[in-house]
Amino acid sequence: GLFSLAAFYTTVNHIKDLPMHGGREVAFVGRSNAGKSSAINTLANHVRLAYTSKTPGRTQHLNYFSLGNDGYIVDLPGYGYAKVPPEAKRHWEALLSTYLQKREELSGLIVIMDIRRPLLELDETMLDWFATTGKPVHILLTKSDKLSRQQSTLTLMKVKAYLAENYPQCSVQLFSSLKKQGLEEAEAVIAGWLKA
Ligand code: GDP
Repeated sequence: GLFSLAAFYTTVNHIKDLPMHGGREVAFVGRSNAGKSSAINTLANHVRLAYTSKTPGRTQHLNYFSLGNDGYIVDLPGYGYAKVPPEAKRHWEALLSTYLQKREELSGLIVIMDIRRPLLELDETMLDWFATTGKPVHILLTKSDKLSRQQSTLTLMKVKAYLAENYPQCSVQLFSSLKKQGLEEAEAVIAGWLKA
């Protein structure tokens, strides 16, 4: 699959250090604990390719993974930590908003949301920042195994309806790292963006 050659590439802490790799990239973003590193690791079939530090202030970097000739995956810093010093918050906002709005190599954005708490305030902030680019967004409603099939389908429908109204460039699917649900669908979206 697309992710079979995934390997750590580089870590970036400042916009000026973004790599000039000449390829395309797809970024993953989400609230801390939503399941972002699990989703990346599941897609890559690696136990610990993506590693999220749970310490606020140590989470302000962008981690790049190479997919061989197919492009790059960028693991963006998580958000929503309870206690983040104001200075760290400003750095994070500047880094994320600039990256999302200005990075030409970025083909599309994967937003990870816990299916039990989708579309919280900072999730929408990400969608708003990125919407200015007109590039596509795909949401993974993770931990879908935590809800019944009926409940997860209902949530998916509600989120779809909300996106159609407010963020028409956004698509959404169910995902579970635990049950390996939704891998093919997510991989197809990412492969399409990297090839487009
Ligand atoms: P991150 O902070 O967004 O990178 O979140 P992690 O990937 O570290 O996951 C946070 C917690 O949620 C961990 O305890 C994971 O084991 C758990 N988790 C992640 N994905 C799933 C999933 O699909 N199903 C279930 N049941 N738990 C998950």
